[in-house]
Amino acid sequence: DKYLSGLDRSKKSFGDRLRALSNNFHGINDELLEEIMVILLESDVGIHTAQKIVDAFESNAKDLKNYDSMEDYLISILYDFYDEEQDAPINYNEDGPTVILMVGVNGSGKTTTSAKLIRHYLQQQKSVAVVAADTFRAGAIDQIDTWANRLGVPCIKGKPNQDPSSVIVDGCRYAKEHNVDILICDTAGRLQNKTNLMNELSKMRRVVSKEIEGGPHEVWLVLDATTGQNGISQAKIFLEATDVSGIVLTKMDGTAKGGVVLAIRDLLHLPVRFLGLGEKPEDLKSFDINAFLMGITK
Ligand code: GDP
Repeated sequence: DKYLSGLDRSKKSFGDRLRALSNNFHGINDELLEEIMVILLESDVGIHTAQKIVDAFESNAKDLKNYDSMEDYLISILYDFYDEEQDAPINYNEDGPTVILMVGVNGSGKTTTSAKLIRHYLQQQKSVAVVAADTFRAGAIDQIDTWANRLGVPCIKGKPNQDPSSVIVDGCRYAKEHNVDILICDTAGRLQNKTNLMNELSKMRRVVSKEIEGGPHEVWLVLDATTGQNGISQAKIFLEATDVSGIVLTKMDGTAKGGVVLAIRDLLHLPVRFLGLGEKPEDLKSFDINAFLMGITK
């Protein structure tokens, strides 16, 4: 299963070490708590979140007897900690195109993820179009246009350095005229100045909401998992600039820092919607905490 193999590195650093600890388990003591702390930190859960998890592990210790192993007990703590129940489902527009804005810094994997999402929604029998609104990064327009051609969906393009919002307007109009279900907008990730970023993002939102009722329906921040805790700091800048409704965590295949999923939940209070597990359009998985925890442990 691609899900499991894509998380191999995190499994080695987290699951395999947890298993070793669990096989040698002789009760909860300071030494054990410290070892769990180290494993969490090395998978980039971050100190703040790791401390909360270790505290929950300690204070619910009476439940340990209900599990086959210490490992399974810890997995249950992580599951409860993520608390998937608080996630609203993805907001699909019932009355017209669902507009999804992809945001994030250059190199995070925005364009690749946009291509992956085209395939994901085509597989769900939806009609899809993509807007090449990253008019800033050289090559981004051709990159998404090539994927759109290969996957057989229309790509609404701007010219290099054109105002991304004007391309998005064209995309929204195309989507309305052609009964597109899902409109994916690959936007630019200019982070050099917070005021600029804020203005650009709010302009994109404004033009979408004028064209399509209730839009944008989802705004997904793409984060590179290999940047771990730095990615969280970067995310905070975006969250201050605009409302974000979910996270796509890319490059999970290339990192042992899978624990960053828990930090995202704890520090950003946002659902992880998808994981990127490779460079090809099929290397995308809808996120589900149970499958994820199994992927990094079992
Ligand atoms: P953008 O600047 O945010 O649009 O970033 P790109 O989509 O161009 O991605 C930057 C690099 O990361 C490219 O080489 C991608 O192939 C690579 N990449 C994106 N997502 C993933 C992923 O999930 N796994 C791996 N291994 N590479 C990825």
